[in-house]
Amino acid sequence: MTDYHPMWEELGMDLETHDLLCDALPVAFGDTYLSQENRPENMAFYDFVVSGIHGIRPAEFIEMKKEGRKVFGTFCVFVPDEVVVACNGAVTGLCGGSQFWVPDGEKHIPSDTCPLIKASLGAHFGKTCPYFMVSDMYVGETTCDGKKKAYEVLGADKETYIMDMPQMKRPCDIEKWKEEIAAFAAKVEEVTGVTLTAENLAEAIKVINAKRAALKRVYDCRKADPVPISGKDALLMIQIAFFDDPVRCAEMANKLADELEQRIADGVGVFPAGTKRIMVTGTPLAIPNWKLHHIIETSGAVVVCEDMCTGSRYFENQVDESGTMLDEQFMALSERYMKNNCACFTPNPGRLEDIVRQAKEYNVDGVIDCNLKFCTLYNIEKQSVADLLAEEGIPCLSLETDYADNDAEQLRTRIGAFVEMLG
Ligand code: SF4
Ligand code: SF4
Repeated sequence: MTDYHPMWEELGMDLETHDLLCDALPVAFGDTYLSQENRPENMAFYDFVVSGIHGIRPAEFIEMKKEGRKVFGTFCVFVPDEVVVACNGAVTGLCGGSQFWVPDGEKHIPSDTCPLIKASLGAHFGKTCPYFMVSDMYVGETTCDGKKKAYEVLGADKETYIMDMPQMKRPCDIEKWKEEIAAFAAKVEEVTGVTLTAENLAEAIKVINAKRAALKRVYDCRKADPVPISGKDALLMIQIAFFDDPVRCAEMANKLADELEQRIADGVGVFPAGTKRIMVTGTPLAIPNWKLHHIIETSGAVVVCEDMCTGSRYFENQVDESGTMLDEQFMALSERYMKNNCACFTPNPGRLEDIVRQAKEYNVDGVIDCNLKFCTLYNIEKQSVADLLAEEGIPCLSLETDYADNDAEQLRTRIGAFVEMLG
């Protein structure tokens, strides 16, 4: 295995602290993932990515930078990757999903901020994540209050471009997001030195649409019973999609989908037919946050769908490819991205519709609505989610957690009782 210490040192990372993280991750991954039985063979690629998670992809980014290309670090699925890819740049998702980074984050923002934000800031300020170190600039967005203010703190240390998100979905809001995309495109042109044209944007739209289509194929396979892939493995695929090369991501997801479709034809599953099927909704599960899925799938149930940004929201809805002028393409991007039903919108009936629609499509027995502590947006929506699911006759369990493991047993008790109640 390549020793990446010289690369991390060159990036200016805190090697000593980072080594602690590198020591802990393989143990956590082994316990959570490698203990699963009968995994699809094509998960070997994703296992390989995790085995070198802070080495392989950052090294690729460094090679790109040597060619003069730029890396944009993002924190939200609203930022249109297409614009960056069109200008020959690369995108990496940066949301922190580990408790390891939280204490460093708490040195810079109040502890009663959601763990995703604290971990993200901790990874930056603690200099323990190469994806932060390798990014030429960050791109934030005004989705929730915590992120808005955290970007000011981050922006004081590294250039952070902010996209101003509309919070409603009226025609004027779609128009406004289109203008934000156009302004972001001008920034990307300035940073990359590449002119955005209708041609390179059309090509990038196709690339990202192909990635979405491939991820969707894998998700569609999860509608089968027995389910051919665990929720943990599907989650890992999506988490890796946030920082992988989009063409490779599509290729590997298509290979995985080929295998899963064959498994379905052969009646092969990772859990016995009839295992209770769970949909998870709520705040995103940034890598390496596997806690919830692991507990569910070791409590007698299987996760078959995630209605969240690290789930179906990441790939549902394609961008219309018919535009031939930048103005039309910006509008097509805005229309697609504004279909995302994040809890930052008010009102937000679309999320409720998505949950019920997918509960039926994936034939779920119950929904677990799990939110990160101090996430006001999703926590307030919990009640409407629970009310609607009750109306629909779909059992729902509402949970709140963070990245620490000290509530794992309590969660296991509640989830175990929920699964038992499903019969
Ligand atoms: S939950 Fe909202 S703020 Fe978070 S990544 Fe998704 S769209 Fe962005
Ligand atoms: S989980 Fe909630 S509070 Fe945290 S970044 Fe996402 S929307 Fe904001």
